[in-house]
Amino acid sequence: EQFCNFLPKIELHAHLNGSLSATSLQKLGCSNEEISEYQKLAELQATEKTLNECFKLFKVAHNATKNPQAVYLATKYVIEDFYNDNVAYLELRTTPREEENMSRVEYIESVVKAIEDCDKKIIVKLLLSIDRSNNLKVEENMEVIIKMKEKYPHVIKGVDFSGNPYVGGFNPKLFQKARDSGLFVTLHCAEIKNDKEVEEILKFRPDRIGHGTFLLSNDHIWKLYLDTNIPLECCLTSNVACGTTKSYKEHHLQEWIKNSLPFTLCTDDKGVFGTTLSKELVLACQYFSLKPTDLWDMTLKTISYTFASDEEKTFLTTTLQDWKMKNH
Ligand code: 5GP
Repeated sequence: EQFCNFLPKIELHAHLNGSLSATSLQKLGCSNEEISEYQKLAELQATEKTLNECFKLFKVAHNATKNPQAVYLATKYVIEDFYNDNVAYLELRTTPREEENMSRVEYIESVVKAIEDCDKKIIVKLLLSIDRSNNLKVEENMEVIIKMKEKYPHVIKGVDFSGNPYVGGFNPKLFQKARDSGLFVTLHCAEIKNDKEVEEILKFRPDRIGHGTFLLSNDHIWKLYLDTNIPLECCLTSNVACGTTKSYKEHHLQEWIKNSLPFTLCTDDKGVFGTTLSKELVLACQYFSLKPTDLWDMTLKTISYTFASDEEKTFLTTTLQDWKMKNH
């Protein structure tokens, strides 16, 4: 456990508003009732809730981040939490939101400013999410994202495709535009069984995929995935909490480990699911017999899955190697 806490870690799949801790929500003005509603879910058994119910929880955090100042503070708090968990490199993702007192551009600028103002020893990059459930506005949202990437290329590195998987669909042309503009692409994929969409996503060959829960439910899809060898962003607690995976023991991660496929461990929504990246590493050791050396190796490999610059990757490699020298 101590090893997991102190290892310099890399987090590649963290949604800003789902990562807000109860303390941060309190600082952002949420009432105790709202916070206990937010925390209630993580305590329920997987069989007692659905993925749809999980999605309702984000409203609590969204209500607390409706203006540029609150978005700025929320970003700052989340970065601090990851820093305190010894995360050395963080790719934070968030959906640019339009509110009565805030445009999507202002939303993005607040997040970028908080990242730029961060004076901690942590590298933070931003991925902007397309919410698939807001399907009327996806084109417009992508245009805003591409425009903002041109303004802040040192911070904004990629696009993500997320939101309620029961709504909307994957549009390869839209994400090709992002790719053409120099953005990396990571897509939520196979969170629910939807073979047609999963096939389209795999054919697009995103740089990474999130969850991948149902890739194994169909031989054809699994073979397609094996041909791509795309790194998986694996979120153990989130998958079990949302009930898409029955238990930790039965989690699909075991197939990635068994077949030496590329994966990295992530928190997804550490606030909503009451986890930390260190805890995710501990779970992987508990259920899949990973050893500290396996976690160190996984972290080293994860560096190559990041959307960081070559210079930053070299820096992270040195950080990790130095840490090993000092601690073993
Ligand atoms: P935000 O983008 O507002 O910073 O973070 C919360 C949002 O991330 C949610 O409203 C949802 O669109 C997306 N999100 C968070 N967790 C998940 C997840 O496990 N699956 C999917 N598909 N989307 C998620």
